[in-house]
Amino acid sequence: MKTLHEKAVAFAKTYLKSESDLILVLQEIDRRKGYRELGFKSLFEYARSLGLSESVAYNLIVVARKALEVPTLQERLQAQEITLSNARTITSVLNSANQEKWIEKACTLSKRELEKEIAKEFPEKSVPETTRYLAENRVELRLGISEALLKKLKRIQDLESKQDAASLEQTLEAMAESYLSKHDPIEKAKRARKPVPEQVFSTTPAVHAHLNTRKRFYPAPLKHAVHLRDQVQCTHVTHNKRCTERRWLDIHHKKPLSQGGQTTLDNLTTLCRGHHRLLHHGR
Ligand SMILES: [Zn+2]
Ligand SMILES: [Zn+2]
Repeated sequence: MKTLHEKAVAFAKTYLKSESDLILVLQEIDRRKGYRELGFKSLFEYARSLGLSESVAYNLIVVARKALEVPTLQERLQAQEITLSNARTITSVLNSANQEKWIEKACTLSKRELEKEIAKEFPEKSVPETTRYLAENRVELRLGISEALLKKLKRIQDLESKQDAASLEQTLEAMAESYLSKHDPIEKAKRARKPVPEQVFSTTPAVHAHLNTRKRFYPAPLKHAVHLRDQVQCTHVTHNKRCTERRWLDIHHKKPLSQGGQTTLDNLTTLCRGHHRLLHHGR
């Protein structure tokens, strides 16, 4: 048992050392935007490609970035006096003005005690937004909201309660339906009756036009066709995997207008901001 224990001690030491070394390397790659050179749009995507789980990659990056702002955190991480998990717990409240106090707590308290301390001082930060599976199709959603928002929800609940009283879930369902039917580009595209345009549309050069761009750049039927085909998701492929980004999207001309490219369905594609920038500027 003694040898096993010695092994465990040695491996634990290497493990913690690797963690703090990895933070340093990620900081440097982040500073140089080196992940773009390697074909990744974000440090997160890059860290995932190293085989790190989503939560580990995310925590490492949040902590690495915070440590550059807060020197004491960097020192304590390098001295392996603070765990990654405790460092992650205080990142939302930590700044250079309060660093002594919070880092001291993070070095001595358990994660649970630390969360309690944060809740005491920053009640608005105390409930992290979480979702957790309860059954195959049921998810528990936990979040803190303001009293003002609760009042608005209750108001909508009143309006939704017709024959029977609406539950909070039914209220949220109605809100989601109403929002999506109004704002989801895919829903709009499905509703539009006009056929997919065949003809070329003349446009003003609007190479970086955002999705919410004006009709004069992308005629609505063309925009709808792009949305239906790409499903309002970035189409960039890195290492055989399509980018999953569904936010901050642009419509991009594969062959630029300046090189005679045209505003046709075939020449248009959906890109997220990161990949769009990568394609145009290579960084
Ligand atoms: Zn573009
Ligand atoms: Zn993308």
